[in-house]
Amino acid sequence: MANKNLSTDEKEVNRARALLLDNQIIIELGELFSQNRHELYIVGGSVRDALLGRVHDDFDFATDAAPDEIVKIVNEYADELWKIGMQFGTIGLEKNNLKIEITTFRRELYNTDSRQPQVDFVASIETDLSRRDFTVNAMAFKLPSGEFLDLFNGLSDLTNRELKTPLSPEESFSDDPLRMLRALRFVSTLITEPAVEVLASIKRLKKRLEIVSAERIQTELSKLLLGLAPSQGLYYLATTGLADEFLPELSELASCIDPLHRHKDLLEHTLTVVENVPAELDLRLAALLHDIGKPRTKSFGPDGVHFYHHEILGAKMAKRRLRALKYPSKVIANVSSIIEMHMRFHTYRLGWADSAVRRYVRDCGPHLAKINQLVRADCTSRNPNQSRKFALLLDELDQRIAYLEKEEESAKIRAPLNGNEVMEYLQLAPGPEVGKVMKALLEARLEEKILTKESAYKFIDKWLKK
Ligand code: ATP
Ligand code: MG
Repeated sequence: MANKNLSTDEKEVNRARALLLDNQIIIELGELFSQNRHELYIVGGSVRDALLGRVHDDFDFATDAAPDEIVKIVNEYADELWKIGMQFGTIGLEKNNLKIEITTFRRELYNTDSRQPQVDFVASIETDLSRRDFTVNAMAFKLPSGEFLDLFNGLSDLTNRELKTPLSPEESFSDDPLRMLRALRFVSTLITEPAVEVLASIKRLKKRLEIVSAERIQTELSKLLLGLAPSQGLYYLATTGLADEFLPELSELASCIDPLHRHKDLLEHTLTVVENVPAELDLRLAALLHDIGKPRTKSFGPDGVHFYHHEILGAKMAKRRLRALKYPSKVIANVSSIIEMHMRFHTYRLGWADSAVRRYVRDCGPHLAKINQLVRADCTSRNPNQSRKFALLLDELDQRIAYLEKEEESAKIRAPLNGNEVMEYLQLAPGPEVGKVMKALLEARLEEKILTKESAYKFIDKWLKK
């Protein structure tokens, strides 16, 4: 009944609170800290996602307790404890398979000349929340009471899908330049629109990203690519110029046009292709980088523009870029193979013999399915007639591959008896008679009428009577 007069916001908060407090461990931790006269808040991504109705699988907490006090409080309670983040105020723990991080109220900043963030502990949750990256990530529930803290209008920004910083973006991005990239990551994962002043600050401060490690950049780039709206995040990455700092190939695409595509430029084409491939890291990276060889291979012939061997150059450039971003070697190998093979299909309409189809399957190796997914997405950006034609041709190629595979499987099938066994059983000398029996046996085997030697001998007896 009381619910009737609640605003939409209050209903959402109640729903999120119920979702989080439904967890026994969260309740128990809250009580544990309060018994020890310390504050505990659930903060950050898990609060944001609960408000979106999404269930988060890891939980971040903030407390006024110092790191060594956190250890004392949870030591008995936790199944496992990690102290590697202790100097930055973070204690990790696991309880009933749930991963939890508890951090002393703090703020982090990079000094202008340092590559290591400096961590200062602060006195209150208010200061801690004010130093977080975005308002949507700066909300908290106090435990065990469940009181909701939203000092920077994070809930209304979340509802309006707006990305803003709690303090000025200028100050926030100077303290930690990675936040500029995190902004575009959240554009993709939360389908938010960055505030005008956020974009302006990124344009002004993008060069500062140079002090951030490749590993931190890689993590955010991957999350951006796997988000719900990667093309939106990538669009801002290119148009703010932030890409210049770690992925200059993306910006180069904006100044190159391929007349085969309906798009304004290769950047627009690339964004469409990224959006159109399934959300798997190597596939999304391959889509992102599939045409980066084009600007440097562009040439003009009497019949128009060409990008000869752009896929070969592109695969090499992709390897170099992904190595610089410290991606695992397996990912780099997958991505460059997918890129290198993404043009072969375009000779298919000239007519491929079965041997050419087999060669394609062999050269694609384990990447066949992903290569075909990239080719499919790549083709959708041509004019509607052509893209329909390419889709049908790809279907046809898929069918031929499946048919040939089946045929090859069949070719491997042997009758359960060999010629010697047949001759011995029937007391025959080598000759055409043996050949006839063997042929009948193979037929029967292909029809799966006989599978064992036993059944094969019985089959011969019956066949001879006929
Ligand atoms: P995800 O769902 O990807 O885990 P998340 O919001 O939980 O998203 P994390 O990187 O796990 O992101 O960080 C947890 C919380 O810590 C964030 O919600 C934010 O409040 C804060 N945070 C993380 N990184 C920064 C940063 N570089 N600057 C300021 N606050 C940060
Ligand atoms: Mg998180």
